[in-house]
Amino acid sequence: MTGTNSKKGRVVIVSGPSGVGKSTICKEILKKLDYVSLSISVTTRPKSEAEIDGQDYWFISEEDFRERIEKGLLLEYAEVFGHMYGTPKDKVDEELRAGKVVILEIDVQGAIKARVVFPDAAMVFILPPSAKDLAERLNNRGREAGDVAEERLNGASAEIAAAWQYYQHMVINEDLQQAVNECVQIIEKTGTET
Ligand code: 5GP
Repeated sequence: MTGTNSKKGRVVIVSGPSGVGKSTICKEILKKLDYVSLSISVTTRPKSEAEIDGQDYWFISEEDFRERIEKGLLLEYAEVFGHMYGTPKDKVDEELRAGKVVILEIDVQGAIKARVVFPDAAMVFILPPSAKDLAERLNNRGREAGDVAEERLNGASAEIAAAWQYYQHMVINEDLQQAVNECVQIIEKTGTET
């Protein structure tokens, strides 16, 4: 597996329940910190209309995904809500070698695996201000059908419960800019730790 000690870069893991606003927060962080890059995952999930291949995810077939696992090309991978998601290893390694802070926006299962590879990784979990708020955001997002949205909402409580055990940083996304600023502070602090 990929080593970390010789690398100048740092990994920051960002997780949170579906609909909490992780992607928006990560995109805002990128605008504020030029030394941060966001890992683009591969997934077997179908692309929604609003998404762009190679920007939001690399959308690939199950066969392609299996091949990447066999060839050891994924840093971590997990099945989330019936689809496979994984972090491409080569790109993360490249960015770390260039001294970047690389954000992995991944689920809790994947985060636990990534933490084994990168023990120094900062782990940030984004929380909604309330369960009701999360339900509203998921429904308003309109990306998934009602039953899928419900499955994701049900999964949120288990993920939040696990998060208290594994994550050092919990950030509540009530006000977007405040949540972004908190994440920026965490990253800046992470960058200066040895
Ligand atoms: P979505 O389908 O809403 O884009 O993502 C569903 C879940 O999969 C989210 O919790 C997201 O963080 C997670 N996810 C996205 N990419 C990866 C990845 O590469 N690895 C893992 N383990 N989870 C991922």
